[in-house]
Order: sequence, then C-alpha cells, then structure tokens
Amino acid sequence: METCNAAVITEHNKPLTIQKVQIPNLDPGSLLIKITASTLCGTDVHRWHGPLGDKDSLPIVTGHEPCGTVQDIAGERTDILGNPVKRGDRVVWSYVACGSCYYCTVACQPCICRGRASWGHNRSDQHPYLLGSCAEYMYVPKECLIIKVPDEVTSASAAASACAYRTVMHGYDRLGAIKSHETVVIQGSGPLGNFATAVAKDHGAKKVLVIGAPANRLEVTKKMGADAVLNLEEVIDEKQRRQWVKDHTDGRGADVVIQVANNMAVPEGLTLLRDGGRYLNIGAGGKANIAVEKIPQEMLFITIRSGEPRHWLQAIDFLASRRKTFPFEEMISKSYKLDQINEAMTAMANYSVVKAVINF
Ligand SMILES: [Zn+2]
Ligand SMILES: [Zn+2]
Repeated sequence: METCNAAVITEHNKPLTIQKVQIPNLDPGSLLIKITASTLCGTDVHRWHGPLGDKDSLPIVTGHEPCGTVQDIAGERTDILGNPVKRGDRVVWSYVACGSCYYCTVACQPCICRGRASWGHNRSDQHPYLLGSCAEYMYVPKECLIIKVPDEVTSASAAASACAYRTVMHGYDRLGAIKSHETVVIQGSGPLGNFATAVAKDHGAKKVLVIGAPANRLEVTKKMGADAVLNLEEVIDEKQRRQWVKDHTDGRGADVVIQVANNMAVPEGLTLLRDGGRYLNIGAGGKANIAVEKIPQEMLFITIRSGEPRHWLQAIDFLASRRKTFPFEEMISKSYKLDQINEAMTAMANYSVVKAVINF
C-alpha cells in the first residue's frame, strides 16, 4: 500500500495533523495528480472550526483549491478543449455534477445539482482517500474536466482559480455585460473582491468602488484597479458609507453591486444600489434579514453557487491574458510548506493574509 503526506482534520478546532494517507488505485479515466500548490480559502477555515453542513464527518483531508502535474492517467484523457492530457501536464480540474438530474439536464444549472461532488470535506480513510488539496497527491475522478495551466500562470494563482476566481467568473457570466457608463461597487476586499475588481475594470466599468478591510487588503485592491476604496474599519457609520457611494454616482447609487463578503453585507449593499440596478450576491456565511419594502425598484438579485467547468477555464485564461495589467501574484500574500498547515490556517482565520498558499 502506497501512501503520501496529507494535512488532516481529525478534530474540529484542534491542530491539523500531517498523516500518511493511502494512494488509491486508479479507476478507468481517472488521474493521479502530484500537487504543486494548494491555496487556502475561508471555507477551509469554517470546516476546520466546526462541521459545515451535516455531511461533514472526520477525518478529512483539508483544502479544495489544487493545482498540480499529472503523475498517472488510467487510459487516455483529453482536456476541456479536446487536447490530449499527458503525464507531466500542469492542470486544474472541475467539480463533478451528476449529469442526469433535473438541474443538470433540464435547467442546465449544474452548480445546484444535488449529487455534485467537491473537495476538501471527504474522509481520508475511505476510498478514494485523496480528495483534499493539502496533500502531496490528489485523486481526480474520471468525470472531472481537465484545464491545462499555461506556463505564464503560477501554480498558486491557478490553484486560487479552482475556487475564488472561477466563482467570480460565474458571477460575471450571470450578471451580463457591464456598460461603459456604469459604476460597480464591490463589498469585500478578500481574494474574491480583489479578483472581481480586476474583472470589473477589464469588462469596462466606468468606476469601480470597493468597500472592505483591513488596510493591507485594500492596498492590493487598489493595485487591482479600484478607482476608490473605503476602509470599513475607519468609516464605521453605514450612513457615511452610503453617502460615499452617492457622492461617486451623482446621488443615484451604483448600477451594479457585487457582494463578496458575507450575508451580513446584503442589507447595506441593497441600499448602495440605484433603482433598476443589479445585485450580484456571491459571499456566503452568516445570517441577515432584508427589509422587502426597501428593496430598490426594478432591481435584479442574482445569486451564485460555485462555478461550471467553463468558469475554471475563463479564470485561467484571464490570469494568463491579463497578467501584464493586473499583479495577480500580490493576492497570494504568504507561502507555507505542508507541515506549516496550522500556521497557514490560523493566518487565514485572523485575516492577516489575503490568501495563503501551501507550496509543495
Ligand atoms: Zn474556496
Ligand atoms: Zn445533477
């Protein structure tokens, strides 16, 4: 039995341990990937702190944002563009929807498929063992679509495209075109907020305004193209924040508001939107109530879950083709080794880094 090292959550809120986890035999069409980088995400911290949904049972290999090179393939595989996948290719890969339920086949909304598989919450002691990215190897089921990573995209940025960035691309897909006279407000200055800032600029917004914290994250936000930023820790009065947006929009409010913080930001976010505007709701976690009578007239409220395989490709393409315009690497603020997993998770938990990466 061959094994490899993996960062395993054995108890909520207790330090993770580096354990030997079994490397599975490959089923036809599946791949074994040697991980080169795994970025960490707020969701990994939530899973570590407590069960996230009733399906989580321990022990689990943490992490769901992998990039790696193909170590082994059971049979022949092609990537999402139809090109052959070879050993040594550096790749990311999509989640798997069932392909046969109402959401997959009739509604064509595979992200809300009830039988969808994802990573970072799978038991390390049950086949196929290696479905978390903080491990030396990961198993890729045959249903996953493969996206090759071009040389000009680092493994860390590619790994972040496997969650944060592809979710943002999904959001913009559902939002539709941003017109050249439109102002976009982004609530949140974490990795999603900073990536969303770059995409809004790229898609032609007249002005991109970002409300976030802390200051170190907002410095990165400015480099990603924000026209103005507002620090939540300095401007604690919601009325003043609303006035700031009004001042930037001739008193109307924003044409588009993108929420990439958490549910608690939504009530305020709706007050930043003009009548007839579009609200794109991405950030999850926490609870909030909306006063229905105060909802802007003729507005659209769009919610997003995860991403479709094509959004992985869009995120990787954006990183490669816009790399001279936006300093994407600045979003990955600190690099760790696998045995520093607890340090990395703690840094993510207390927001002292924008995004941590485990490099192998
Ligand atoms: Zn994530
Ligand atoms: Zn389905």
